[in-house]
Amino acid sequence: MGFAVLAAALDANAYCRSTTSRQRSTALGECVRTGIPLGWRSRCTGFSLYRTGVPAEVGEAAFSRLALTATQAWARVPCDQDGLGQQYFRVVANLPTWQLSGYNAQGQNANTLSFRHTWNDNAIHRPGAIAITIATFDSFTGEIYDADMELNTFDDASNRDGFHFSVAPVVSDPGAADLQTILTHEFGHFMGLSHSDNDRAVMWPEAGPSEIRRDLTADDAAGMCAIYPEQNTPNARCIAVPYGGLSTQADGTVVTAGGCSLRPGALASPRAPLAVFAALALLRGRRRERRATRAS
Ligand SMILES: [Zn+2]
Repeated sequence: MGFAVLAAALDANAYCRSTTSRQRSTALGECVRTGIPLGWRSRCTGFSLYRTGVPAEVGEAAFSRLALTATQAWARVPCDQDGLGQQYFRVVANLPTWQLSGYNAQGQNANTLSFRHTWNDNAIHRPGAIAITIATFDSFTGEIYDADMELNTFDDASNRDGFHFSVAPVVSDPGAADLQTILTHEFGHFMGLSHSDNDRAVMWPEAGPSEIRRDLTADDAAGMCAIYPEQNTPNARCIAVPYGGLSTQADGTVVTAGGCSLRPGALASPRAPLAVFAALALLRGRRRERRATRAS
């Protein structure tokens, strides 16, 4: 009995928020608590699909649908105490983009989701990771300016260690990664969460091949509510245009929000945005091994 209560208490606090700290967690379950926690300034943001490189086995329609589903898992977490479950955080699907990952302080931006057909070409793209999320934030306030997701995509010519992604309700290819599971995890990073040490949570850092974990646990939801506590009124007006305008055109045309651009005053200040790889690797193949170890 005592053990069960203890386990429940630990699980309730297993989530971990990303912070401005340069310190990186080195062990599974370790949570860096120094620095300012990260989060979006408003309860409204958007994402854009990268226009090319979507594998045929996925297709643009399924990519778009699953990305939106994954965002909604987070956006619909009810953090209110009255139990009405009002949605107050909105993530909208912006127009697709040609802009790759990264933040442009001088121009337009997009929170880009892309299938990357090369990997391991720098320290960010670690071998074996299924996907990463790269966040750019204000190093003084923790405000997230930009967050981009990259998927480690199998390519017969350029990335034979990449992954196949499944968009089916049930993953039939035993070696494929469930795209909705991966996107839901990465959108947790997008929101400002780091890894949880609850091995049932979406934010647990590892996933086995064909493993499905699409639904948030209470731990994931508690993490979301810690970053974005209840607001009295839902965010009815959501203009999810990134700082500098939304980048959608190959020729650099900028879509602005009709005078309501969210261009930040902070960029005119001496504060420099600090781009980091937010430690967001999802490793393959080790989950079952770990379970077996724990069971023994
Ligand atoms: Zn991760």
